[in-house]
This record gives sequence, structure tokens and C-alpha cells, in this order.
Amino acid sequence: MKPNKVESITAELLAQALEALLKRDERNTCQHEETHREGFIWEACDGCQCRWSDDRNPKPKWVDPPEWTEAYRILNLYRKNKK
Ligand SMILES: [Zn+2]
Repeated sequence: MKPNKVESITAELLAQALEALLKRDERNTCQHEETHREGFIWEACDGCQCRWSDDRNPKPKWVDPPEWTEAYRILNLYRKNKK
């Protein structure tokens, strides 16, 4: 259902829209899971153009963006208390 009146927009529809947005954003955000070594100090991501050097800027540990964390917190709260 695609409502076009504000009165018909429900929390469930907003939750579904947020889930779709999260899914798309996660799919389009490289988390640098697959990397390979280039030479002695370089590490490069197979999924994007990022490169890190062990001495100056080592690959950082992945941290989810705070927007994802907050969106999942709200969605989980909604899904748990819906019924
Ligand atoms: Zn990457």
C-alpha cells in the first residue's frame, strides 16, 4: 500500500520505509570486509578504493554509523511493542 494522504500514514508504514532505507544504505556502504595486502605496508579494500598504510593510517575497526544504530534501536523497540 502506498498512501498518499498523511492521515493514512501509520507507524508500520514508517517502519517499513525505514527498514528499506537501512537495507539500501547498508548495501551501498562498504564496510571493508575483504582486503588484500599491497606491498609491505599497504592494505587495500577489495570493495572500494580505500587504502591504508600500517605506519601512518592503519585500517580502522569498522563502527556502524550512529544513524544505523539509532534506526535499529527505534525499529527494535517498535517491533517488540507492536502487539
Ligand atoms: Zn571498502
